[in-house]
Amino acid sequence: MNRILRVNMTDQVVTEEPVAAVYAGLAGRGLTSKIVGEEVPPLCHPLGLENKLVIAPGLLSGTAAACSGRLSIGAKSPLTGGIKESNAGGTASQKIARLGIAAIIIEGRPPKGTLWKLVIDKKKAELAPAKGLKNKNNYKLVEKLTEEHGEKVSYITIGSAGERLMSAASIAVTDLENRPTRHAGRGGLGAVMGSKGLKALVIDDKGAPAVPIKDKEAFTKAIRKFAKALKEHPVTGEGLPTYGTNVLTNLVNEAGGLPTNNFSSGQFVDVSKVSGEAQREIILKRGGIATHACHRGCVIRCSRVYMDKNKKYLTKGPEYETIWANGPNCGISDLDVIARLDRLYDDIGVDSIEMGVTLGVLMESGYIEFGDSAGAIKLIREEVAKATPLGRILGAGTAVTGQAFGVERVPVVKRQAMPAYDPRAVKGIGVTYATTPMGADHTAGYSVTANVLGVGGNVDPLKPEGQVELSRNLQVATAAIDTAGLCLFVAFAVLDIPAAFEAIYEMINAQYGLSLGPDDIAGLGKAVLKEEIAFNKKAGFTAADDRLPRFFETEKLPPHNVVFDVPHSELDSVLNF
Ligand code: SF4
Repeated sequence: MNRILRVNMTDQVVTEEPVAAVYAGLAGRGLTSKIVGEEVPPLCHPLGLENKLVIAPGLLSGTAAACSGRLSIGAKSPLTGGIKESNAGGTASQKIARLGIAAIIIEGRPPKGTLWKLVIDKKKAELAPAKGLKNKNNYKLVEKLTEEHGEKVSYITIGSAGERLMSAASIAVTDLENRPTRHAGRGGLGAVMGSKGLKALVIDDKGAPAVPIKDKEAFTKAIRKFAKALKEHPVTGEGLPTYGTNVLTNLVNEAGGLPTNNFSSGQFVDVSKVSGEAQREIILKRGGIATHACHRGCVIRCSRVYMDKNKKYLTKGPEYETIWANGPNCGISDLDVIARLDRLYDDIGVDSIEMGVTLGVLMESGYIEFGDSAGAIKLIREEVAKATPLGRILGAGTAVTGQAFGVERVPVVKRQAMPAYDPRAVKGIGVTYATTPMGADHTAGYSVTANVLGVGGNVDPLKPEGQVELSRNLQVATAAIDTAGLCLFVAFAVLDIPAAFEAIYEMINAQYGLSLGPDDIAGLGKAVLKEEIAFNKKAGFTAADDRLPRFFETEKLPPHNVVFDVPHSELDSVLNF
């Protein structure tokens, strides 16, 4: 990956440049955050001329390394006001890497009302008017693009929410079946793409050479070692392939950390109706796919395909986070309702976590009741999708909705909705929510591993002791994994099987002719975090932003009746390196 594409939306000119020295050796999140740190004024408006949207495959993307197809997308976030990296699976990352592109930087702003698509192949990269695509949602949009560009390319798109600059807007990436099901969901990056007037990227790697590997023999050995470890670990080899990410619902509920009815309880009475086991049964009964890969080369295959009652394709997954946010968190226990919401979110192009938590807050206000399935679907289909004034409030996310409706229990950090683990009963994840530069984000440092799953050791989830160190180590490791372009789920094996961790730097070394060791991987993760923290400081963030909402410290969570009690002084020490 030796070139950067710079897409100037103001003049609709695409230029190519070599990777500058300051960006050398970086990829994925490491590169998107470095470019945002270097080129975006921290005080700029996220939807203004000065923000840039950066798209980058990981270090290992495009190779045969297992689960190496994550695509990082970065910018200043319209949701948090800080730096953002959100990554997605799907097929685009591997194609961009094979085209030798380290990053695509989208900058400037086109004349008002104009809409564009960016077509990239082996020979060219050019902008063309996005004729007939205005306000198309993702499924129809991809259908329309496919008529012109075919099925063998990858599409990176925004739905109507991105065009309408909603802060919960996501960016979709097509999967192996050419469906827009993989989303860089968090932080409203779809709105940044919309603000640039860019509706879609078409990535065609036909005729592109294989990604160069310096030491092929060593690389083959390392990828085999890595895949073997992933297959051996009980979570990556059995739990995720069998039940998908929804394997977590029962486990987190048993731990008393499944946020229910807008974070007012840690257990859901109807949990068996939305569990991974129930989901698998429905999928198999209706002829769906219970074990599925979001891109070639994934050996974990946590994804699935969900059919409706008529055995027709409805949506992917849905994933654990989506099921929780729109299920237990809203008092809803019907998987078909959750799947319909998931389909709507993917289509409109909004983050399913942000929207589910937003619905929970709205239910708390009394606007609709907890458990009102029809009301939830109507709000998304009739208000958000149509961008009515209420839809725009909801599409702006949980913090805005909480403010608009006068709700006190608003589970956000840095204005981003909290994911599927209550920080009072899973305190390690609370430390991550509070301190990651990304806003509340479980993927930034997944302490659920040692807190609930017994992976990478055991740290009592109900006590404050040991949580800071746990979260810090995981945040550092995750920043490195995101830079490598690896799916975060490899972390389960990496934490327990030494060979899996060794294989990561052995694969990178063999591909690039380097001699990195374990300390270098940790050093890389720390450097990425430092860049992100520096950006946020310049954007005006202080230690006061590294806190959970007050109610987590004062309101006891049943059934354990605990509060979040990791001292503020300890939170301030998490990323103080
Ligand atoms: S484990 Fe799941 S999310 Fe990760 S690459 Fe495989 S299918 Fe995609």
